[in-house]
Amino acid sequence: MSSLAAEKKAVNLGQGFPDYNMDAELVELVNKAMKTGHNQYVHMNGYQPLRDALAEKVKFLYKTSIDPVSQITITPGGTYALYTALTTIIQAGDEVIVFEPAYDSYIPAIELNGGKAIRIQLTFPDYSINWSEVKQRITARTRAIMINSPHNPTGSVLSKNDIEELKSIVKGTNILIISDEVYEHLIFDGLEHESILKYPELLERSFVCFSFGKVYHCTGWKLGYCISSPHLMNEFRKIHQFNCFSCDSPKQVALAEFLQNREHYLELGSFLQKKRDYFQQLMKETLFKPLPSHGSYFQIYSYADLSNENERDFAIRITKEYGVATIPVSAFYQDEVKHKVVRFCFAKKEKTLENAVEQLRSVKPKL
Ligand code: PMP
Repeated sequence: MSSLAAEKKAVNLGQGFPDYNMDAELVELVNKAMKTGHNQYVHMNGYQPLRDALAEKVKFLYKTSIDPVSQITITPGGTYALYTALTTIIQAGDEVIVFEPAYDSYIPAIELNGGKAIRIQLTFPDYSINWSEVKQRITARTRAIMINSPHNPTGSVLSKNDIEELKSIVKGTNILIISDEVYEHLIFDGLEHESILKYPELLERSFVCFSFGKVYHCTGWKLGYCISSPHLMNEFRKIHQFNCFSCDSPKQVALAEFLQNREHYLELGSFLQKKRDYFQQLMKETLFKPLPSHGSYFQIYSYADLSNENERDFAIRITKEYGVATIPVSAFYQDEVKHKVVRFCFAKKEKTLENAVEQLRSVKPKL
């Protein structure tokens, strides 16, 4: 959709990346780090002051003490952390439960590692987990369950009750958890992020994956980290050592200083919520109908009042005829779904959102 958006000079609300500048202070800190000579390899597991700052943040936000030396590894992005976690644990034929719609790397990453993806659809239209179905789909080969909150593409978030269900399902089993929390701070409406880090008994059996790029509005940085138990992290590092070894130094040095100011992450949720609210407000003038989004960069809209086309055809036509690119949510499923919903990325300048909605107001029903 991004290529089509570029070709048609459409406003791109498809792919998830901000079009506004990242924090100038963080850019300055990277400059400073480079100018002061932080340009060589740092420790394989990450620049220690950054890992210390992350452990401090985890303690402050989730009241859990983690050991920054043995439990945190800095990675080249969240996707890499997820992939490495899967490589660490999957033996041929192992099953991994994934929920659809699923971020596009999950299923290929499971299959490339010789595993089998057990796909369970989130309930429509609230995109929540049907835990009784999860119980039914567990077998002797179930190696892990992958969760993602706040969720891409829907913006749904896991509740305390979901975590209780997860706890009761894994209790007394060897099932591991891979938790994709790349949108950690981007949660709205006064809801609390139910991080696995809040639950030491779950963290014991989890790989929790994060992305600096996503939360600090610099997706091109491709820098993230993984937190796990010392035992699992030790195994994770056996893969990481020969796949990446050491990540970008100046950015790690900069982030270690940047994270000293808690405001830098505490303000992220309200910053993004303002954008979501502004976008929702503008979209009221169109025939698109919003589905709830409580986090991430994304807001899903139904176009059922506008067209009977499938999601792909609709998204392509809207890009070509009205100059606004979206992502069909069906692209996040392996099987065909007919929900008539598309995903918009609202992590954009106000002007970009205004330009997009200006076009979307003129979309005529074609039923
Ligand atoms: N997980 C989810 C759910 C995402 O949406 C993304 C980014 N699109 C990632 C992981 C990847 O993060 P990174 O760019 O740090 O690899």
